[in-house]
Amino acid sequence: MKTIPYGHQNINKDDIQAVVDVLKSDFITQGPVGPAFETAVASYCGAQHAVAVNSATSALHIACLALGVGKGDVVWTTPITFVASANCALYCGAQVDFVDIDSRIYNLSVERLAEKLAHAENTGKLPKVVIPVHLCGQPCDMAGIHALSQRYGFKIIEDASHAIGGKYRGEPIGNCRYSDISVFSFHPVKIITTGEGGMALVNDTQLAKRLRLLRSHGITSDAADMHPRIPEEIWNYQQIGLGFNYRMTDILATLGLSQMQRLDEFVAKRHIIAKRYDQMLSSLPVVTPCQHADGYSGFHLYVIRLKLGEINKTHRQVYEALRVAGILVNLHYIPVYRQPYYANLGFETGYCPEAEQYYAEAISIPIYPGLTEAQQDQVVAALREATSL
Ligand SMILES: *Cc1c(COP(=O)(O)O)cnc(C)c1O
Repeated sequence: MKTIPYGHQNINKDDIQAVVDVLKSDFITQGPVGPAFETAVASYCGAQHAVAVNSATSALHIACLALGVGKGDVVWTTPITFVASANCALYCGAQVDFVDIDSRIYNLSVERLAEKLAHAENTGKLPKVVIPVHLCGQPCDMAGIHALSQRYGFKIIEDASHAIGGKYRGEPIGNCRYSDISVFSFHPVKIITTGEGGMALVNDTQLAKRLRLLRSHGITSDAADMHPRIPEEIWNYQQIGLGFNYRMTDILATLGLSQMQRLDEFVAKRHIIAKRYDQMLSSLPVVTPCQHADGYSGFHLYVIRLKLGEINKTHRQVYEALRVAGILVNLHYIPVYRQPYYANLGFETGYCPEAEQYYAEAISIPIYPGLTEAQQDQVVAALREATSL
């Protein structure tokens, strides 16, 4: 039996040829393609600068560092996200805390954020940075979060790992209109891929400079940034800060550049699949994803919630039945604070009630550009079977 994954990359002949061409060229890393990929994404999104790195996790790490996150600081994010959205704060020696989700959209709730900020102001523990995550590709209420950032003085990193190709209020996600930095992931299950890879987008030139330094050992080869030199010395670079090797190779950047040509097509196809699911699932005991009028989702994921009161099985049993039927469904996500590592930091089960409720009912069913109608029918049939009495 051929299984159907929840997500899958789409690689065509042009992608393969582009990579082969780079392999035969003079540069397989730090050549001309990395900057070309950055320019392509920045101009697509309408951002001033883009910094390509080897993963979104790296992008989140250096985004926190570039915004000055360190020991004694607190970073807030949503519990319904991949662990990387929270881990990035811990890498910097900061603490992390979680804001509960909106029960309908599943993104960080602006109401809960406002309440938590009012409380934190009284206790003197305001966050330095808030990291909203555009879950499934659906944008958060960025205008609401931005307004709160003005009032309380925190910075914003959009974790847009799911969301390249989506829009918020008619503008591309990634333009940083309501944030300091936006981050994309190019992992194979995401909207476009470089195998592994990520990118940070910014409008602030100084911030872009800091991100570039952090990406590559803290080294600059820009004479204007170098410390005074003895005229006899031959120095073509200086290390002026502490950075990492988080660079993206040209081999991967060329794949990303080639994938960019089909980005709109990929997202349009995801919307067609989502719409078809919406119709086909309307008679099943599940809640289909609610779309806010302000957003155009990237539809990285299609998450259904089981109406367990109308189903004679547990969440786990439905999940297992689908997997047995060859539908490789997944769960996005276990609330981050329930991971054993975070539980050890002192977070308790039940910390964010809406996130817990979501976690008890959510299942991600397959969505990716190559999913055929026949496969989609198979998914729906298996779900009908798994949820029938
Ligand atoms: C995939 C993902 C990441 C991490 O991306 P990598 O490129 O694999 O490091 C971070 N945040 C979210 C929400 C993700 O889905």
